[in-house]
Amino acid sequence: TRRILSGVQPTGSLHLGNYLGAIKQWVEFQDTGKFAEAENLDGEEFKEDPNVEIVNENFFCVVDLHAITVPQDPSELEESTLASAALYIAAGNGQTGIDPKKSKVFVQSHVPAHSELAWLLNCVTPMNWLERMIQFKDKAKKAGTESVGVGLFTYPVLMAADIILYQADRVPVGEDQRQHLELARDIVRRFNNEYCKGNPYKKRCKKAGMPTYPVFTEPEAMIVKAGGARVMSLTDGTNKMSKSDPADGSRINVLDPPKVIREKIKRCKTDALPGIEWDNPDRPESTNLLNIYSAVQPGRSREDILEEVKDMRWGDFKPVLAEAIVAHLEPIQKRYAEVRADEDYLRGVLKEGADAADEIASRTLKAAKVAMGFSIPK
Ligand code: ATP
Ligand code: MG
Repeated sequence: TRRILSGVQPTGSLHLGNYLGAIKQWVEFQDTGKFAEAENLDGEEFKEDPNVEIVNENFFCVVDLHAITVPQDPSELEESTLASAALYIAAGNGQTGIDPKKSKVFVQSHVPAHSELAWLLNCVTPMNWLERMIQFKDKAKKAGTESVGVGLFTYPVLMAADIILYQADRVPVGEDQRQHLELARDIVRRFNNEYCKGNPYKKRCKKAGMPTYPVFTEPEAMIVKAGGARVMSLTDGTNKMSKSDPADGSRINVLDPPKVIREKIKRCKTDALPGIEWDNPDRPESTNLLNIYSAVQPGRSREDILEEVKDMRWGDFKPVLAEAIVAHLEPIQKRYAEVRADEDYLRGVLKEGADAADEIASRTLKAAKVAMGFSIPK
């Protein structure tokens, strides 16, 4: 069995970056067991041995504990959480999304082991490892030091706990999470090295009635290679599209109505150069909009798209792009409305997901406590 874990924060509504960089990939992985266009942290492609049959166990989590690292309105957090879960189930290529029969969907705060392991790992992780994290620097700068909670600083440790609890082998993420995944691997190595070896460790395992637990699994990142890996802001092609950007016009939300999508594309930043091109470093907006255009038309090749758009002016291209996005999101939005409306079903899925997650997570948490030498209650 190979375990896959990933999640999105319910901070406001999910956008094209979350969908193309994360959820769409999860669905593909769930359905095919493969993830063709992805690389690991060393930039290597995944080569699967076709002769070995692997059973994947997928866990997709709504990471609400991460969401509160920046201020959240308590009257909106639950709705955002349920909306995110419903979107996981609704969002695929318009036909299938995360299928709760094939994958577990759960809410992070429903499984207490996440908070608990995060505390243990907080005490194992050196401060200066966290001081290097780019996301912290970015988000702290935006929030202003007065209002930055300690949680924002230790965010990557909670993320490491999320991954370790499930002994996840593969973690599909967007490019922006590369550094956090590296950190999670470092924490795993450090923990294994300091606590999970030698005779005293084996004795503690025996006393706790556990087999000598295998050391924590080092997770592999799966970073999407195609244009979806890094969807950029509509108002600045050098900045990633983010939920936490206060300007809603900087992103396309998966649930934006067609009118809003058209309006946002109409207003999005472009440049004064003729034609539309891919990968010209001086034209980040052009590359980003083409990446989006291509990602919402999965059947079409790059050459085909380039042929269509290369002589267009922005005024010609923008409406075409807007319609392509609208057409791609429409079936997802329709399905979302159905799933969200059936609250009993949705809560049932989350309960089942949390139960399954809790079973695995509690086991790992206990192993971590035994490794660290805690007293284990009867
Ligand atoms: P926030 O601004 O609150 O951090 P976010 O938009 O960065 O929100 P996250 O919940 O932090 O979203 O990330 C969830 C997943 O979506 C991660 O796998 C992340 O790599 C991916 N992701 C986020 N933004 C983008 C983007 N612009 N392009 C591609 N993938 C993205
Ligand atoms: Mg983020």
